[in-house]
Amino acid sequence: MSFPLPKRQGISVNTALFDAFCFDLDGTVYVSDIVLPHVLDTMSKLRKANKRVLFISNSPTQSRASAAGKLRKFGIDVQEQEVLTAAYLAAKFMSENDRASTAFIVGEGALHEEFENFGLAQTTDPFESTHVVVGLDRHFTYQKLNDAMLALRNGAKLIVTNPDPACPVPGGLQADTMSIAKAIETAAETKIETMIGKPTAYFAHAMLELLNVPAKSSLIIGDRLETDILLGKTVGMPTCLVLTGAATIQHVEQSAYKPDYIISNLSELIF
Ligand SMILES: [Mg+2]
Repeated sequence: MSFPLPKRQGISVNTALFDAFCFDLDGTVYVSDIVLPHVLDTMSKLRKANKRVLFISNSPTQSRASAAGKLRKFGIDVQEQEVLTAAYLAAKFMSENDRASTAFIVGEGALHEEFENFGLAQTTDPFESTHVVVGLDRHFTYQKLNDAMLALRNGAKLIVTNPDPACPVPGGLQADTMSIAKAIETAAETKIETMIGKPTAYFAHAMLELLNVPAKSSLIIGDRLETDILLGKTVGMPTCLVLTGAATIQHVEQSAYKPDYIISNLSELIF
């Protein structure tokens, strides 16, 4: 094999090197409703070692509260403030950049809930909206496509929660946010103004702001090269690919994004 694997591949990660750990959720902590092996043990060891922990997800269908609730059901001790989801960050972005906005939301309950949490205005009238905010909506209809188009053609700006065209579900894949966003973008003959989710710099900086430790002292652990590993590289965080989800060693060989560490599962984080 000609590809030079990262030199620490196959070697355990010494957790003493880092003050903070960012874990992707799907494919890293759990797959669907099943917690992955060694996750619970690793989390309790990180707590005992007083490490900062952050859980990150591109999911626009999970609020901070619902993601934290799911983790607690698995037995993981976590506060809402230790979770970042694309739904939460989309609302945070609007709150920081345009508090006077009125959003026409194409998305599910979590996205509406996070906009409410930030006290942001929402409308179902395309002509009242200043922004169209798009996340995965499994009840997407022609009517919503048409209304979103009208809003954008009337001057609203297009904000998209995450760049994923499809995401894994038990037994296969489902169309994700980007396929809906592209339909809306095409209908309106416009361009996406802001992308929120991994691997954007906005997501990376929100992570570091929450962790409040230097990038080089934080390790990002995830199962996808083009989101998790690229996200870490965007802000100079060391990166660790875990082979319990999407990416395989073959993907690493073919990818431009080379993680600093590759582990088979979380038992290779050593305390
Ligand atoms: Mg993942």
